[in-house]
Amino acid sequence: MSWQYGLIKDMKKPECWIISSEFGVVMADKYPKAKHHYLVLPLADIPSVFYLDRCHLPLLNELYLLARKVVQVAAKGVPWEDFQVGFHAEPSLQRLHLHVISKDFVSPRMKTKKHWNCHNTELFVPFDKFCAQLEKDDCFSRLPKSLVENLLSKPLMCNQCDFAPDSLLDLKAHLYYH
Ligand code: AMP
Ligand code: ZN
Repeated sequence: MSWQYGLIKDMKKPECWIISSEFGVVMADKYPKAKHHYLVLPLADIPSVFYLDRCHLPLLNELYLLARKVVQVAAKGVPWEDFQVGFHAEPSLQRLHLHVISKDFVSPRMKTKKHWNCHNTELFVPFDKFCAQLEKDDCFSRLPKSLVENLLSKPLMCNQCDFAPDSLLDLKAHLYYH
């Protein structure tokens, strides 16, 4: 399906790059789920997290350097600690991509419970945890389908306090005032 190749298509256009290196490029997420949302993609043709092994750890560190740099140059004044950096455990688009997203999650594109839960449950694998798992297992395995479904439909919870909203609309209003 062609929509799965949207990132590969757009990363070929230098005008879409915010920064780049000999290892990868950073683009703005086209449908940002927070005030700041970037994607770091390797130039190497790696379809997804499921194609990585230990040998890729040095490349992942290069991608992480790009993540740090894009926050400095594109999100001026926003501290690094205000970002979460990691991979979706069940990505939908082709070409490996590291999410660099600000923890406010204030965005008109945050529209569904799935959008929330794929960034705020175990479906979002922080970079350090991901690398530790890759180091240990020499691969990153797909989560069982039933677990993915459970996590996607998990009750909403604020990422900054104990608030358990009744709806995404409530959560969005709450996040706005954080
Ligand atoms: P995922 O595959 O679940 O890790 O997420 C793919 C991400 O790519 C989502 O955050 C989308 O908003 C974003 N996205 C989809 N198409 C494009 C595009 N052409 N350029 C930049 N970002 C995109
Ligand atoms: Zn809260």
